[in-house]
Amino acid sequence: MKAYQRLLNYVTFHTRSDENSTTSPSSENQFALANALVEELKSLGVEDASCDEYCYVYGHVPATPGHEDATPIGLIAHVDTADFNDLPVKPMIHENYDGSDIILGDSGLVLSPKAFPRLKDRIGETLITSDGTTILGADDKAGIAEIMTVVELKDTFDHGPICIAFTPDEEIGRGCENFNLERFGAKYAYTLDGEFENEVECNTFNAASANIKFRGENNHPGSAKNIMINAALVAMEFDSLLPRAERPEHTEGYEGFFHLLSVNGGVGEASLSYLIRDFDTAKFENRKDMMMQITKFLNEKYGEGRVVCEIKDGYYNMYNILKDHPVCIDNAVQANRNAGLEPVSVPLRGGTDGAKLSFMGLPCPNLGTGASQFHGPYEHITCEAMDRAVNVVIELLKLFA
Ligand SMILES: [Zn+2]
Repeated sequence: MKAYQRLLNYVTFHTRSDENSTTSPSSENQFALANALVEELKSLGVEDASCDEYCYVYGHVPATPGHEDATPIGLIAHVDTADFNDLPVKPMIHENYDGSDIILGDSGLVLSPKAFPRLKDRIGETLITSDGTTILGADDKAGIAEIMTVVELKDTFDHGPICIAFTPDEEIGRGCENFNLERFGAKYAYTLDGEFENEVECNTFNAASANIKFRGENNHPGSAKNIMINAALVAMEFDSLLPRAERPEHTEGYEGFFHLLSVNGGVGEASLSYLIRDFDTAKFENRKDMMMQITKFLNEKYGEGRVVCEIKDGYYNMYNILKDHPVCIDNAVQANRNAGLEPVSVPLRGGTDGAKLSFMGLPCPNLGTGASQFHGPYEHITCEAMDRAVNVVIELLKLFA
């Protein structure tokens, strides 16, 4: 079976995760796909395939004869979809794409190379989209479909032990919460959760969040002279002291930023919350220092304790770990070349389960699936790109064998 045929099946499962839930998995419906994946793995000869109480699917493909001692390699994809309508996903197939605008069903949306120039790379291929009312769910069901297709092809190439995991709740940042590394058993792993199929992603942001509270001095405005301290205005002053060019809307590539997430308050009290992001560890530390410096400056100006800044680290750039395991990166790059693709290394401007797994002791770069425009109605993929992604993984497993 082709990878895209599997994708068309998986997208019919409603697997949206729920940020407001405290259970694991965050939504019960993720079990339906997870259980179906266990059955499919078993039907492909993965005898130990199972799903645990937290909705993690594990399975192991034994090495081909003579390769039993090769490094066990893990392949990981997530079953949940992002916080966007996925009910019901009605995929549309556009054969032999000619590079023109695509009208997405009756949604009024148009998928156009004017907005997404890299659509031109897909001319002549078979494009899959949603009908514009939902996401497609290729993030990350394309990754699952590609891994499953590699499993189906397991007897056609030499490989060492392969460890498979399908995880819940990646989109809400909880995909590693109950990940059982021992049961998984891989030395290195790869998430298949990126965009273009020739991408090898080894850099993620260093991430922190900052919550800043401002305590004002309220007074009748008619007699406020030299008494009132307006917390909302001090908050605005705080933000004005951050570099204006270093915001998400002005940055790309390896550039970091401060992202003002929310503003609350009035004269008496106010608060700001920010995301702090940078690939470079020293620059990341500088960003946090800058916030503390501004806090100090404002407290000196308005009185001690007026401004309280709390910064919490979230996750770190996985390159800090991966750089000590060059084979992990080198083989992914070489696998692309062996599959006839020119590998590109792109910085991942977000989090990934692989980053957390890397810091948990399982070095885990991210590979492309062939999909684009995740988390919205313009999400798309091609059948051919999925085939190429499958080939990259096969070449990768051959290199480790
Ligand atoms: Zn994803």
